[in-house]
Amino acid sequence: MKIFNTLSRTKEEFVPLEPGKVKMYVCGPTVYNFIHIGNARPMIVFDTVRRYFEYKGYEVSYVSNFTDVDDKIIKKANEEGVDSSEISARYIAECRKDMEGMNVRPATVHPQATQEIPGMLQMIQTLIDKGHAYVAADGTVYFRTRSFKGYGKLSHKNIDELQSGFREIRVTGEEDKEDSNDFVLWKPKKEGEPYWDSAWCKGRPGWHIECSVMAKRYLGDQIDIHAGGEDLIFPHHENEIAQSESANGKPFATYWMHNAFLNIDNKKMSKSLGNFFTVREIAEKYDLQVLRFFMLSAHYRSPLNFSAELMESSKNGLERILTAMERLGDLDGKVSGDALTEEEKTYEAQADELTAKFEAAMDDDFNTADAIAALFELVKLSNSTASADSTKAYAEDMKRRIRTLCDVLGIVTEKKEELLDSTVEKLIEERQAARKAKDFAKADAIRQQLLDMGIELKDTREGVKWKRV
Ligand code: AMP
Ligand code: ZN
Repeated sequence: MKIFNTLSRTKEEFVPLEPGKVKMYVCGPTVYNFIHIGNARPMIVFDTVRRYFEYKGYEVSYVSNFTDVDDKIIKKANEEGVDSSEISARYIAECRKDMEGMNVRPATVHPQATQEIPGMLQMIQTLIDKGHAYVAADGTVYFRTRSFKGYGKLSHKNIDELQSGFREIRVTGEEDKEDSNDFVLWKPKKEGEPYWDSAWCKGRPGWHIECSVMAKRYLGDQIDIHAGGEDLIFPHHENEIAQSESANGKPFATYWMHNAFLNIDNKKMSKSLGNFFTVREIAEKYDLQVLRFFMLSAHYRSPLNFSAELMESSKNGLERILTAMERLGDLDGKVSGDALTEEEKTYEAQADELTAKFEAAMDDDFNTADAIAALFELVKLSNSTASADSTKAYAEDMKRRIRTLCDVLGIVTEKKEELLDSTVEKLIEERQAARKAKDFAKADAIRQQLLDMGIELKDTREGVKWKRV
């Protein structure tokens, strides 16, 4: 498998740190509003990367954070007159709903910045002790970029050029910086902001430190893949490398993967430009599977321009696959025979080639555009060769083949007749209400009812989690 590594700017063969395992960290959203479909691009892309690794037999540990302490969250909380934790909890819940709609699987762990403060204090202290960070008069802690030789290696920037570019910019409150490239690890609280105690001042962490700390805690000092949108290369990921490698004394991530932007009218879709659609808005018009299919129709490193035409063509493409699967489903009961005919064996050989083509595309830096083209060829083969005259063995095999490749792309091919997620959530809410009212008998009865329906609940620090068993 080859992966384009931003660090080397070349496609490199994937060699995991530990055979058979992949440790992956993907920077997640700042939770102060509904996510927009630009934010959805890395979610869908890297969920697909995860799925493909699993298809290849790897065990994947996938960590993705929620940034739940940030100026924008605080601003929104102040506007609404509520605590910032209320804002972040609300939008984490909404984000999880959007992820489910797009068939983005929950990460192995979704850490939240506010739950990881002790680890941050520890890493900042290590950086101070090693001379990589310093404390300014007001208690702000800065990272000393000059102390890290590799600074600039990810973004391929030269530290001296960076400095001259910044020379004229005076940022109020940052006069104490030794160097204009130095960045904040910890900053003093302001009125109306959440804060924590520390050895330097009552305050809160800078943004970059959270990812270094969460990656270390949940995956270790060294990880295989670190990913996010390309706007994160500089300064966020550059700073993460500086922090992690200075604190841990080891290379941080082997591969750095960055998705290109989702644009609209050829401009980056972003909250600040106001040119965005939320996932929720798209869901009013389309099945979110269409959005997923649209995102995967381009290579993740190519800019993708959002348009109604492209969404329509993705809708039609997806429909073609779903219709083929429905046709195969309709053959159930009409076909028989467990042994392939000679003719079917030649079709199977063609199908093998198409599966190999799909894999070759995915092995080549996750080229989902070419992989989808191979999938369409498989669908065409199925449409032209599977019929009521086929053997059962053949019809079932074609169905299994298409389903397996769709699974890699996160496309659900068969409508779930089973229990809907919304039904489960509703029962969980009832159970929570019963617990709150101290009606534990009722709460236990609901838990048992869910178990009978094949749903297992787990009470965790982050709330109730459930899975199908
Ligand atoms: P944010 O909440 O802005 O930190 O973004 C969360 C993730 O979405 C990051 O990985 C960003 O790089 C990514 N992202 C934001 N806007 C876009 C966009 N228009 N296209 C692709 N990725 C984006
Ligand atoms: Zn990050």
